Amino acid sequence: MSYDPKDFEKAWSDVQDMMVRLYGKLKDKSRAQVIREMADVDMDVLIQKEFGIGGELEKIAAGYISELKAIEAFAPVEESVLQALIKMDLDVFRGKIRDASSIIRKQVIEAVVGDLTETEFRNILTREGFQPHQAEAMVNDSLRQFSRNVTSEMAAQMPIDTLWVWLGPIDDRTSDECLDLISAGPMTRAEFDSLLPGAFTQGTHYNCRHEPRRFTEKAQFRGKRADKQITENVQS
Ligand SMILES: [Zn+2]
Repeated sequence: MSYDPKDFEKAWSDVQDMMVRLYGKLKDKSRAQVIREMADVDMDVLIQKEFGIGGELEKIAAGYISELKAIEAFAPVEESVLQALIKMDLDVFRGKIRDASSIIRKQVIEAVVGDLTETEFRNILTREGFQPHQAEAMVNDSLRQFSRNVTSEMAAQMPIDTLWVWLGPIDDRTSDECLDLISAGPMTRAEFDSLLPGAFTQGTHYNCRHEPRRFTEKAQFRGKRADKQITENVQS
């Protein structure tokens, strides 16, 4: 099973809940004591270990391996390249969590200083800083980008007349650019790059859920459905 980015959204939402509960408990202590303790506490360790985000990051790492298995291997990609691609993403995730932890610490201390209620603190926590929907987008975008990177590595070793289709969900969230690419049907890499330069490796926008797949069977060509969605998007 590949990793569902919605799980990371949920995990980060849980972190916010646990943080609010912790804040509620802190209110029993003296302000000076809380501020002193919060300044000392390793927020990153608290969130990664106690609040379970570290375990969730490990599940994402496993998700990358599942992602790999889902990609049709039509050309060899060096193990070291794959490891580098996975490591760079996990480093970004850990960095993001570290930054988010520092911001939460600041939010807690300022809430204590301002004598905010639990509800007021929750409002700030769920408004400013790293939010669950951003956590979901970060993981989704990275997983799709990883998949496109691996495909690009393999594509570089294929004959220039190899055909590709643009694959992914067709729904009301699908961008016009992606619908156009899906509609265009099987294309060579050169045709692809002339139609929408960069999309083959980068997607059409942040959080794009689409990627190139080698065209092997007619069933993969979903032009008619994409055309229909384009019409629906224009109408709504
Ligand atoms: Zn897309």
